[in-house]
Amino acid sequence: MSRLATNLLPILPPDLPPSFPAAGTVPAETRLIDAFGRRLTYLRVSVTDRCNLRCFYCLPEDAQFPFGDKAFLTPSEIERMVAAFVRLGIRRVRLTGGEPLVRKDVLEIVERIKALPGVENLALSTNGTELVRLAPALARAGVDRVNISLDSLDPEVFRAITRRGELAEVWRGVEAALAAGLHPVKLNAVLLRENLADVERLAALTLGQPLAVRFIEMMPTESNRHLQPDEYVSAGQARQRIEERFGPLTPLSAAEAGPRTGPAQAFRLSGAAGTVGFITPLSHTFCAECNRLRLTARGEVRLCLFADRTYPLRPLLAKPDPDAALESEILRVLQEKPAEHMLNQGNYGNLVSFMQIGG
Ligand code: SAM
Repeated sequence: MSRLATNLLPILPPDLPPSFPAAGTVPAETRLIDAFGRRLTYLRVSVTDRCNLRCFYCLPEDAQFPFGDKAFLTPSEIERMVAAFVRLGIRRVRLTGGEPLVRKDVLEIVERIKALPGVENLALSTNGTELVRLAPALARAGVDRVNISLDSLDPEVFRAITRRGELAEVWRGVEAALAAGLHPVKLNAVLLRENLADVERLAALTLGQPLAVRFIEMMPTESNRHLQPDEYVSAGQARQRIEERFGPLTPLSAAEAGPRTGPAQAFRLSGAAGTVGFITPLSHTFCAECNRLRLTARGEVRLCLFADRTYPLRPLLAKPDPDAALESEILRVLQEKPAEHMLNQGNYGNLVSFMQIGG
């Protein structure tokens, strides 16, 4: 047994009865347990590869989407696939992209997923450009909370990073999300040489508002490899700047942090309403705690962001019993989830850009 599996032994579930769970019911426990004993309860669903921004570390300026919109799953196909994952034990779902809000039928997708018995939390990752228009409708349709990308609070730096974004528009989107009750509103900033001077200002947003600001180390992909390593800024560098300005960051108490559901380590500035977090896939991996699976916009399972293959589910929709076929294929491929990503060895699998799968 590998080192990873040994570490995970304490959380292995008791043996489950062979009939667990009855067909068509929502299990109390997840059946999605991989070869290393990791329990998968979180599904990230990309609904499109398209994006209306061109963040330079994510997409080339002239990004093409050669497959056309017809290649993307329809709302009912998404519902059918997500339902299979949920019957197997997924409890939290996140819609992502590309930019999910460029899909005209995004509200229908939200409604369909939210209506599935067993979905406890439905989140959405967005660049915020469409939130002024859509935040109230998303909340009504069933989105519980949003993560908004916000790499800089300087309009010129923001424009330079996104190549076409308007900071004021995204900021109005942040306010709209707060007003619509999509809490906690999380703001994600990818750490770059360009926005290092912004780190303190971004962290200061948490002083007066219940925002969770998270700093993410840039991960290498095929489309940004030319940027490495001089663009790369570690979470340690960002934390040092924040602590020099505001004093030591206090880790959230266990009670406040709640059960750990993601890779961010969360802290609070003294007296702040919100929290500051760091996501450190390169300087500290969190593979041993990975609880997630991904579904691409074309209906493929991706077991790890940096895996070198995906597993198509769409053909199974044509089978005589598609629900059973989906379940058994998901359970089968799950056993191939790798122990850990090999980013630190320079292997980022077949991921060209995060727009393929939404991070
Ligand atoms: N458009 C949505 C958004 O902006 O959140 C969802 C998709 S976007 C690809 C998801 C997140 O991945 C964004 O916060 C983006 O900044 C981040 N991202 C993209 N490429 C990245 C990379 N190479 N390393 C780390 N984060 C990246």
